[in-house]
Amino acid sequence: MTPRAAFAELLRRHAEVRDLSSATALLAWDQETMMPRKAAAARASQLATLAGLRHERFTDPRLGDWIAACEAASGEFDDEERAGIRELARDWRRATQLPRDLVEEQAAAESAALEAWREARARSDWPAFAPHLERLLDLARRRAAVLGFADRPYDGLLDDYERGATEAGLAQLFDQLVPRLAPMVAIIVEHAGRVDSRCFRQPFDERAQEAFATRVVAAMGFDTDAGRIDRSSHPFCTGIARGDVRLTRRFAADDLRPALFGIVHEAGHGLYEQGLHAAGAAERPGAALLAEACSLGVHESQSRLWENIVARSLPFWQAFAPVAAEYFPAQLAAVGAEECWRAVNEVQRSLIRVEADELTYNLHVAVRFDVERALVAGRLAVADVPAAWNAAMQRLIGLAPGNDGEGCLQDIHWAMGGLGYFPTYTLGNLYAAQLWETAQRELPRLDEAIAQGELVVLRDWLRASVHCHGRRFTASELIERATGAPPSSEPFVRHLRARFGAVYGVTLPG
Ligand code: ZN
Repeated sequence: MTPRAAFAELLRRHAEVRDLSSATALLAWDQETMMPRKAAAARASQLATLAGLRHERFTDPRLGDWIAACEAASGEFDDEERAGIRELARDWRRATQLPRDLVEEQAAAESAALEAWREARARSDWPAFAPHLERLLDLARRRAAVLGFADRPYDGLLDDYERGATEAGLAQLFDQLVPRLAPMVAIIVEHAGRVDSRCFRQPFDERAQEAFATRVVAAMGFDTDAGRIDRSSHPFCTGIARGDVRLTRRFAADDLRPALFGIVHEAGHGLYEQGLHAAGAAERPGAALLAEACSLGVHESQSRLWENIVARSLPFWQAFAPVAAEYFPAQLAAVGAEECWRAVNEVQRSLIRVEADELTYNLHVAVRFDVERALVAGRLAVADVPAAWNAAMQRLIGLAPGNDGEGCLQDIHWAMGGLGYFPTYTLGNLYAAQLWETAQRELPRLDEAIAQGELVVLRDWLRASVHCHGRRFTASELIERATGAPPSSEPFVRHLRARFGAVYGVTLPG
């Protein structure tokens, strides 16, 4: 078989596996939005069948032969095709290296852990969840041992989410970041009275909230002919296929902010998913293989950039405070852009990560990073997690939870086997600030455009600098190409100092 013929086989199989993944994603979306409750058992069976089929089609040994034929004749392919072959080969090797019993044991352990976690969280009962985490940790270590890792087992876990990131690199990054956040928080909480968010804490009609949020998402350039927005209990974004990216929204009856920032966040993810296919990915075979997200950190950088950096900026509210007043005249007609802007930038020491503001958010992530790397390294016993968690909260945020339900049991990630996931949130925040600095430099009128409600100019810049590359580069290569510098926490610290200094009228240390 010629290398080109082998490549054609690879493309065919890739398309087939991609279609199975799309069908899985659509069923999973339906489960969260539309599915009648009594269909749960049938749906679980459908998803398991599809997962089995996908695994079988993808781990076919013939793929290994086709990959080898392509790799042996790399001169016959262009750069983009070579990158596509490299990525497909990586996925194939990882999928075939893992023994089937380990994969099945992992799936069973995760579903049992999820059940146990829901109950344990509600009853604030860490000992009820602990044996599940013990089992998941053991599986994670075995998985890392099979797949290999750079230096420490935690590096192997990071490979699933942020390829190339290492525990040592992340530790250095948090060590630079965390000591600079705490003094900023200390100054701001002393001036808490300078921000009043009552204008957003009122009853808001649900239909009007939906209409307003949809208008903002349209201004961002989310293509609703290639996607949709529906309701779910937890907002999310899922890229089903080319031309089909779905967002879900949430809603709070007495606060406008969750609906607005929730949908802007998901639309940031959604623009990335739509942008993956924007650069002719359907026409060029190499691009088709690369039209997937680069990493979780990069994905999160897109949602955070829109949610925090753009939608919490003064120019954004200069454009959208008058729009909000159209939808909510009784609540907001008398509220100006500056007041809205301050109200969406309220800083508080808090216990719950998902409710944390932009300034304290990464301290919550630092708590989780500390605890989980100690767990994976075996320096911390599962039984001692609550004590370690509470001590880290006290040290970093200055508050300790009253119970484990609002402490170490608050997040779903560990129960889903997601050890090594949390740091990608902080990476997303850092990448976002670094991309934003570059966008401002390259688009000198960006703030003015945003103040006019013209947000698409930023979408287009992101599309050309980030989205169109898909997974061709690692996250740090991508950031360096887009911004001219390797990933760093400096732009993020500069952003926080400028923003919260202005909101609170204080001078913050850098
Ligand atoms: Zn997100």
